[in-house]
Amino acid sequence: MDKNYVIGIDIGGTHFRLGMVDEDGDLYNFVVESSSILDTSDDPVKKLIDYIKIYMKNVAGGRLLAISIGFPSTVSKDRRVVYSTPNLKAFNNTDVVTPLEKNFNVPVFINKDVNYLLQYEIVRRNLVNPGIVIGVFIGTGYGNSIYINDHFLIGKNGVATELGHIPVAHVSDICGCGNVGCIETIASGKRLMEIRDLYFPQTDISKIFILHKNDPVILDFVDMLTIPVATEINIFDPDLVIIGGGVIQMEGFPREYFEACIYEHTRKPYPAQNLNISYSLEDNRAGVFGSAYYAFNKLKGCEI
Ligand SMILES: [Zn+2]
Repeated sequence: MDKNYVIGIDIGGTHFRLGMVDEDGDLYNFVVESSSILDTSDDPVKKLIDYIKIYMKNVAGGRLLAISIGFPSTVSKDRRVVYSTPNLKAFNNTDVVTPLEKNFNVPVFINKDVNYLLQYEIVRRNLVNPGIVIGVFIGTGYGNSIYINDHFLIGKNGVATELGHIPVAHVSDICGCGNVGCIETIASGKRLMEIRDLYFPQTDISKIFILHKNDPVILDFVDMLTIPVATEINIFDPDLVIIGGGVIQMEGFPREYFEACIYEHTRKPYPAQNLNISYSLEDNRAGVFGSAYYAFNKLKGCEI
């Protein structure tokens, strides 16, 4: 490694991924670790700092330009504090940026992870002035990012695009965010696990769409997944909708039916008749690449 580089980190509820991306966009020293080594700590930021120091020690040469981290969380508007992260509670209400900047003397960027996933798609697809791009990433939860006129939509408090937390009438399940009746409780990977346990206990979760995709319970579940994204399409009339996440990428997921449901729930004649739906590129390094791309943009002075 003799080039200048950014360390990109993608922290999930189960694993975190980390790598060095140089100015040409090439990735080096990609690693996947268990998030439990951060989450069990009283001081998760110190654990993270210690981890990065050891990681860097093993790599000779080059100069660190920035560190960029995606969290499965809401993040403050100034992008310094992780607010609420149900799957990684140790980081709740934690200023991550100040201690990292102090230790490494480089700019540190944090963001919600799905913004970095969408950043990855935008760079890899060479999208220039793409207008309004919506990213929907359905995994354990229902992740969402909106890129509008070359900026991520972040809102008054920095927490825009929490699409999974649309309230739904007559739903009484408690969401990971603490509210009752968020659509994520009936439209997410977490819900799919519940459906498996309830209706198909003999089926391995990875086979659920292969074996049961025509079952009314599964068809109804797939339809539920389209309610949030169709809602957002009706609001924004986007140029491009990118769909990804673990649930969508499962073998046998009925994409045709999924798209038909989106069509059904969107306004006619438009946007329904001119939908541009695309699926995310399958790459488990996307969050690391995306976080680094974001950092390089910020280092260049782009206000994204
Ligand atoms: Zn919620």
